[in-house]
Amino acid sequence: MRRKIVILGATGSIGKSTIDLIERSPDRFEVVAVTAATNSEALADIAARTGARLAVVADESRFEDLSARLAGTNCRGASGEEALVEAATVEADLVIAAIVGCAGLSPTMAAVEAGRIVALANKEALVTAGELMTEAAEKHGATLLPVDSEHNAIFQCLAGNRREDVSRLILTASGGPFRTTSIAAMRDATPAQAVAHPNWSMGAKISVDSATLMNKGLELIEAHYLFGLSSSRMDVLIHPQSVIHSLVEYVDGSVLAQLGSPDMRVPIAYALAWPERMETPAQRLDLAAIAKLDFEAPDLERFPALRLAREALEAGGSAPIVLNAANEVAVASFLAGEIRLTDIAAIVERVLAENGNAAPSSIGQVLEIDRATREHVHDMMKAVCS
Ligand code: NAD
Ligand code: MG
Repeated sequence: MRRKIVILGATGSIGKSTIDLIERSPDRFEVVAVTAATNSEALADIAARTGARLAVVADESRFEDLSARLAGTNCRGASGEEALVEAATVEADLVIAAIVGCAGLSPTMAAVEAGRIVALANKEALVTAGELMTEAAEKHGATLLPVDSEHNAIFQCLAGNRREDVSRLILTASGGPFRTTSIAAMRDATPAQAVAHPNWSMGAKISVDSATLMNKGLELIEAHYLFGLSSSRMDVLIHPQSVIHSLVEYVDGSVLAQLGSPDMRVPIAYALAWPERMETPAQRLDLAAIAKLDFEAPDLERFPALRLAREALEAGGSAPIVLNAANEVAVASFLAGEIRLTDIAAIVERVLAENGNAAPSSIGQVLEIDRATREHVHDMMKAVCS
C-alpha cells in the first residue's frame, strides 16, 4: 500500500524537496492533493507530474488559469480558503504542512482536527496557535511530526527516552549571513545579501528570519509547544557549520545530538517514512573532511529579534501572535526594499510593547489578533514613511 500524501505549499522550497523525495520512491508514496498561493502554472505542472487529484490555488483570481491548465486531466482544480481546507482534509495518510506564515494556520489546523499525521514545516502555525493546535492534536488523535530541522533533531533524540528525564533542549543556529557583521553594516544589508544563507537553501521569508535570528526565536516558541519545556530550559547555540541540528541534555548529564549534512530532505524523509526510515540523496557526513565544529553564544545586542521572541514566549497570551504578525509584515516590507533589515526588530519591539496580551481561546481569535496586528504595523510604517 502506497502512503497517500497531501502537500500544502507544494510550490515552495519544502514542497519541492518533498516532491523530489516522493519521485525517488514512487512505490512508497502517492500524492493526492497539492496547493499553492498564486502560481497556477507551477501548481498545474506539479499536479501533472505527481498525479494529484486535487490542486488548490489560494488566490481566486488564478482559478480560471488553473482550470484551463488542468483541462483533460484527472486532477480537479479549486481555489480560495475553503478549498485549501478541503485539500488539507481529503483522505490521506500524511499531510505536509509547508505553507509559509500564518496563512498556513487554518489548513494545518483542519488537518489536525481531521486526526491526520501532520508533517509540520509551517512553524508560524505553531507559534501563533501552539496551545490550540497541540490540544486539538490530542483530542482528535493527530500526530505532529516536526520537519523543522532542529525540532526534527530533538524529536529523534527524544525517541526511546522518558520526557521527564530531559533537563534541557539546545537548539543550534548557523548564525546566518550576518553572524560576524557589525550593526552598522547590517543597517545597510540588502535583501539579496539577507537571503543568501551560508548553509541552507530556503524560501525568502525564512531566509530573512535566519539573518535576523528571528527564525531561532520562532523555533524556541515552536519547541516549547512541541516538547513542553519552559523558556528557561531551552538554549540557543550558534554553530556555523550546521552539522549538529540540535541537542537534548538529560538529567544524568548525557547529551544526545542529531547530525547530518544541511539538507532539508533528511528531516522531510524522516516524516514521510515515519516510523520507518527511507533512502535520501543527501550528502553523507564526512567528519574527517569537516575536521572541526565551532560553537559560540548568540549576541543578543546585534540580534535583538531572538531576545524579543523569547520575551514573547515568556509573556504568553497573544504576544507570540503579535510577534509573528509584526515580523511577517516587516520582513515583506524589507524584501520590497521599503525598510532596513534592522528596522524589522525595532518594529516588532514597538508593536509588542503596545500589546494588551489577552490570550486567544479559538483559531478565530488568533486570526483576528493576526489581522489587527498587521493593520497596526501597516499604519505605523505609513506614518513613519510619510
Ligand atoms: P516558500 O516561500 O519557498 O514556499 C511557501 C509555500 O507556501 C509556497 O508553496 C506558496 O505558494 C505557499 N503560500 C505562501 N503564501 C500562501 C498563502 N497566503 N496561502 C496559501 N499558500 C501560500 O517557503 P519554504 O521555505 O518552503 O517554507 C515553508 C514553511 O516551512 C515556512 O513556515 C518555513 O518557516 C518552514 N521551514 C522551511 C525550511 C526550509 O528549508 N525552506 C526549513 C524549516 C522550516
Ligand atoms: Mg529550523
